[in-house]
Amino acid sequence: MTTTHKRFDAVIFDLFGTLIENFRIDELNSVLREMALALTIPPVVFRKQWTASFHARCLGEFSNIEANLEMISRELGRPIDPVAISEAARIRAAYSKTFLERLFPDSISTLSEIKARGYKLGLISDCSTEVPSLWAKSQIAEFFDVVIFSSVIKIKKPDRRIYELALKQLGTSSERTLYIGDGGSHELSGAAAVGMTPLLIQNRASRDGEYVVDVDSWVGPRIRSPIETLEYLK
Ligand SMILES: [Mg+2]
Repeated sequence: MTTTHKRFDAVIFDLFGTLIENFRIDELNSVLREMALALTIPPVVFRKQWTASFHARCLGEFSNIEANLEMISRELGRPIDPVAISEAARIRAAYSKTFLERLFPDSISTLSEIKARGYKLGLISDCSTEVPSLWAKSQIAEFFDVVIFSSVIKIKKPDRRIYELALKQLGTSSERTLYIGDGGSHELSGAAAVGMTPLLIQNRASRDGEYVVDVDSWVGPRIRSPIETLEYLK
């Protein structure tokens, strides 16, 4: 048996903007526009309502896309049209199917190497209910010991309970856990607040064109690509 001087026992990753691409604003807007047209709601009005329901979506307040669209229709004082809602939901679902396919080129090799080095691996994602339903089929699911989706547990980052739950399930302490994320949902401050070591991942010079909500103004260590995580695991 080799003696280890490892600083960490576990590594926790964020999902969007960390292991897979963030939404591109232009693409998201075009999907929202199609959904709006299906619902016969002016696209600008629909986009505003959809964006405003982001936190509720991440907190699992809608059991599915249809429920989210019904709520928006009600808020706009519009009749619930099941056919239109089902068509708009279909458009969104087709888009959602692509999320987990948009892995960064080195995501798999990074996770595989971290696993091979004997670290526990966790994932904490603020996401709507579509991601957990698609997760089992993703190419990266097999690497994780613990996976926590905000829409499933109805708690989102940076609430300390979401990090504490991950630590409990991983069986590690916060001091021995590295947290990597692109900074949405104030996740790095949240990880630091429970005693984890946060690492910012930002692979582009700026976030222009990316849809990221509640961005951390984080000034700590930064990497540009998942594979650079390995530098912190020596
Ligand atoms: Mg993210």
